[in-house]
Amino acid sequence: MTANGSGPLLVWFRNDLRLSDNPALLAAIQSGEPVLPVYIFDDDPAASWQLGGAGRWWLHHSLAKLRDAIAERGTTIVLRRGSALRELHVLVREVGARGVYWNRCYEPAALARDTAIKDALRAEGLEARSFNANLLFEPWTVKNKAGKPFQVFTPFWRHCLGLAAPTPPDAAPAHIPGMMRPPSTDKLDDWKLLPVQPDWAAGLRAAWVPGEEGGQARLVQFLDEAIVDYKAMRDRPDLPGTSRLSPHLHFGEIGPRQIWRAVQARIAHNREPGIMAAAETFLRQLGWREFSYSLLYYFPHLPEKPLRSEFNSFSWREDAALLEAWQRGMTGFPIVDAGMRELWHTGWMHNRVRMIVASFLVKDLLLPWQVGARWFWDTLVDADLANNTAGWQWTAGCGADAAPYFRVFNPITQGKKFDPDGAYVRRWLPELAGLPDAFIHNPWQANLMTLNAANVVLGETYPWPIVDHAVARERALAAFSRVNKSGDWVEDR
Ligand code: FAD
Repeated sequence: MTANGSGPLLVWFRNDLRLSDNPALLAAIQSGEPVLPVYIFDDDPAASWQLGGAGRWWLHHSLAKLRDAIAERGTTIVLRRGSALRELHVLVREVGARGVYWNRCYEPAALARDTAIKDALRAEGLEARSFNANLLFEPWTVKNKAGKPFQVFTPFWRHCLGLAAPTPPDAAPAHIPGMMRPPSTDKLDDWKLLPVQPDWAAGLRAAWVPGEEGGQARLVQFLDEAIVDYKAMRDRPDLPGTSRLSPHLHFGEIGPRQIWRAVQARIAHNREPGIMAAAETFLRQLGWREFSYSLLYYFPHLPEKPLRSEFNSFSWREDAALLEAWQRGMTGFPIVDAGMRELWHTGWMHNRVRMIVASFLVKDLLLPWQVGARWFWDTLVDADLANNTAGWQWTAGCGADAAPYFRVFNPITQGKKFDPDGAYVRRWLPELAGLPDAFIHNPWQANLMTLNAANVVLGETYPWPIVDHAVARERALAAFSRVNKSGDWVEDR
């Protein structure tokens, strides 16, 4: 790279695939230099957390939308494939760039890569500037009184809420002053991010509209229709009670500051206690996202290793058949199977059901949480290293502020409580649709006449339970209590 006092500025898009509330893009435009938007697809097979199948599908559509939105504003996004360091180096030389601007990522590998790129650019006398677009409170701004990272959510979030409110988001630029002759770009289709033979994405297409407009529309719909009941409905997988913003947030098609502001605006004219409490509960979920990012930043080993080191010696089981039954939604526990099939068809699963299926894998089956996290990683459209890792470690009881080891979700009572009419199970397991409500979550307890009337033949049309939950629970308690006896957990309240 060569030192250069003037010249175009590269805006390197990553997980910030939007034009509004995009400080790197705005700063580049305000510099008065021509702007060259760039996206680099780095699918290095050696990387340990390469984008999964569902994520690749989403990325394709999100980039197509971003490309079109940038074209509408008068310029072109350059797509390149390969190592970010190498491709940026090539592009900077090709166009004689003055520097590169980007919005920060927080995953350990991304942080290491970005630091190396910043150093390399600056060593060449080029400008390298990064901005915050992805979090309300960046990890290094949130520490406890001892100057250490919080490891318990409630004090973490209380502390965040006492800090200065997030800055207002900027609108999308009307025009992006591009280069007269931008360099060549890859064709998005050539990256082959979409599944073919088989094309398994029909359910994803039906469920989602990737891209910035899709994210904004989802937010508006949620604020108009669902936030009022969020507190009461957020645990009900049978109802459209949550925002479903997670994939849009993961890919940065919408930013948390935009959500924060929109919620504030929503409650500005209606401050009745119900809606205030709902808004607070909803923003608290964004707080969990911030907490997860903070944990990953301070404890970069978390995607592979438990936060609580005594879990390193936990003796998980290995059983390919049980794992496959879980992955395919064939465990014989309807709420678990419905969740796993929702995941397979739509690339998403309701939070309550994520907790149930995760608990089932790590406690009923005693299979390692890392194996479950990998499956989620490949199948979720919102697969997110910080949130996924925190969710799995929370469920396994080995993470920060985790579920206590003796909490073993009962798939039958959870089903009855959160899917009371069995509507969710019936949607995803049509083979059980004819069962009466009393047996929809426990078909093996129905008598033969009831099963026959519903056309259910256990072992044929739907599996028998792969474990006896009561027995599995006792086994899990015994295994987990052995670990917890040696626990050295200290809360930082
Ligand atoms: P809403 O209830 O509308 O919440 C709004 C936003 O807050 C979400 O979009 C999300 O960004 C954030 N949020 C909500 N709950 C959590 C949470 N518990 N932890 C962190 N952030 C949260 N979330 C992901 O985004 N990606 C993952 O890969 C992921 N894996 C998970 C794995 C397990 C085992 C568990 C238990 C949870 C996981 N979550 C993950 C968290 C949560 O399930 C999803 O964020 C949520 O279901 C997304 O739906 P929503 O957008 O409708 O959420």
